[in-house]
Amino acid sequence: MLEKAKKIAAGCSCGKEHRIVTSVLEVGDGATESLVSYVKKRYMSSNALLVCDENTQKYSPPIISALGCRCFVLPGNAHANEVETARLSSYIESIGKSSVDVMIACGSGSLHDITRFCAHQYNVDFISYPTAASVDGFVSGVAAMTMYGQKLTYPSSSPVALFAEPDVFCSAPARLTASGVGDMIGKITALFDWQLSNILTGEPLCRDIFDVMNEALDEVKRAAENEDAVRSRSFPVLIMNGLLLSGLAMQLAGNSRPASGSEHHMSHFWEMHVYNDPTDALHGEKVGVGTVLMLSHIKANADIIYKDINIDECKIYSKDTVEPIYGKLTDGIIAENLPRGTGSSALAELGKDSLKSNAEKLLPLIEALPPAPEISSMLKRVGGCVDLGSLSLPENKKFIETSVTYSPYVRNRLTFAKIISAVRVSQGG
Ligand SMILES: [Zn+2]
Ligand SMILES: [Zn+2]
Repeated sequence: MLEKAKKIAAGCSCGKEHRIVTSVLEVGDGATESLVSYVKKRYMSSNALLVCDENTQKYSPPIISALGCRCFVLPGNAHANEVETARLSSYIESIGKSSVDVMIACGSGSLHDITRFCAHQYNVDFISYPTAASVDGFVSGVAAMTMYGQKLTYPSSSPVALFAEPDVFCSAPARLTASGVGDMIGKITALFDWQLSNILTGEPLCRDIFDVMNEALDEVKRAAENEDAVRSRSFPVLIMNGLLLSGLAMQLAGNSRPASGSEHHMSHFWEMHVYNDPTDALHGEKVGVGTVLMLSHIKANADIIYKDINIDECKIYSKDTVEPIYGKLTDGIIAENLPRGTGSSALAELGKDSLKSNAEKLLPLIEALPPAPEISSMLKRVGGCVDLGSLSLPENKKFIETSVTYSPYVRNRLTFAKIISAVRVSQGG
């Protein structure tokens, strides 16, 4: 897997230079010992700091005793927010910054984000030791945080190395692996949106990165078709590999385009808790359901590609439109979509006939998308969440309509859902 990514980094058909930061990536039996010797070789082992939470602490003893290092335990299911980063930072301050040379994240997605955020803050290396195949963000270079209520990504550190031990992540609750499947399944709409933007605005699309990601997605879809395969020990291993490849694809692309589209925006929208009560659903669970809803939404609105589109940005991003949905986050959302000085709205490059004049290129992409029920059945087969009810979110039509229309506002990134939303809101509803 790392070889595929390294090959792209060595030279790519698109002509662009791609970089990978995570040079060591080991998934397999014995990864824990490899982690220990990696740290011993490069750092003063007693100056390593292992960060875990109450659920993943049970995996830490072999590492702590072999390295003789400190361990900081966060509360179980700690969210990546200002409270938890402050907790970890004040611990680091209390022991003295100079006694931390490297941080080891022993846990799942949020724990990685908290650790990488602080590692970046203190300018120390960070190593990933994932305890579940639950998200694709382990090797990410940005920290996905919910700071003071708003979902934001912060420039952060990619791990210098990752060690994933099957005995550890295969013993994670099945719910976590199912969540990883949801995060992988989201690549269906993410890759679709990337292609769409490439066609409509010329946004760079690297074929090599796209193909690698698509292959990983196909592999997960194939494995999830078979009930026996889903129950086997090799299933979480396959999901872990797919998720890591997805993370590397983001490193290579230099952004999250290969792995995140309208389905992730939907998940982020719910994570902001502006229109719904907080839910304990996991990131990949929300992405999986977001993918199902977006697939129906895209197919139901496919006709738009034959029409003139009239987009009124003044109206779409006015306070009057944004505030009823986003409340106190309104200014942040408007600033995200209409960045001053640094760029422009993702919709700005679209003309009235952008869709119409590209309809023959867009139609095959829409037709190639799997029907939503096919993806629901797959998520069900792996024990994942398939509908809003299972995420503890409202299941009524109004909530779905609001989610599909206003979730594209969370990021200034062109997606098919963003165009549908822009046309709809411009028309006044
Ligand atoms: Zn390329
Ligand atoms: Zn994700």
